[in-house]
Amino acid sequence: MEEKHEKMKKIRDEVMELKHSPLYAFRIENNSFPVIGEGSHDAHFMLIGEAPGRNEAKTGRPFCGSAGKILDELLASVEIPRSDVYITNIVKDRPPQNRDPLPSEIEIYGPFLDRQIDIIRPKVIVTLGRYSMQYIMQKFDLSFELEPISKAHGKTYQAKAAYGDIVIAPMYHPAAAIYTQSLKETLKADFQILKQFL
Ligand code: URA
Repeated sequence: MEEKHEKMKKIRDEVMELKHSPLYAFRIENNSFPVIGEGSHDAHFMLIGEAPGRNEAKTGRPFCGSAGKILDELLASVEIPRSDVYITNIVKDRPPQNRDPLPSEIEIYGPFLDRQIDIIRPKVIVTLGRYSMQYIMQKFDLSFELEPISKAHGKTYQAKAAYGDIVIAPMYHPAAAIYTQSLKETLKADFQILKQFL
């Protein structure tokens, strides 16, 4: 829908000019891009990671490096085409040394993610990693259900968005599986739960 593209473009334009972000100077110094998100604006599934890494900031595309390869495998394992989902991050600019996002950064970029959720209106939000899980669970008033990701991964939580009922599915971050094969098996098993929402 044209209107969705316009709204998303406005988000991109605003993030491009986000000079008060502590990550803006690092973006410019490194000749890189913010990563707004990618995929269908009518997606049923929205996947939310933490922040772009080096490859993502170089290309402006989410999950296009080694964590992205794992994510692609996970999506393929449940026969969900990547082009059918929408993939983004909480923080839209790469933190130096790929460190964890700071609370202040989450505060600056979180409202853009909120707007993206309202544009896409996903039925299922898949959080990738603990930062994304925390942000989304808090946003949808599920703080009282928050558990460590080691407990919450692979479970589903019902929540109410302004536009209707949604499901939140916390998963480990795919990057955690790059060096740990057993985590990849866990992620694969956890992704199976998405099939019931297809
Ligand atoms: N890790 C993330 O959290 N997001 C990306 O886009 C890439 C790696």
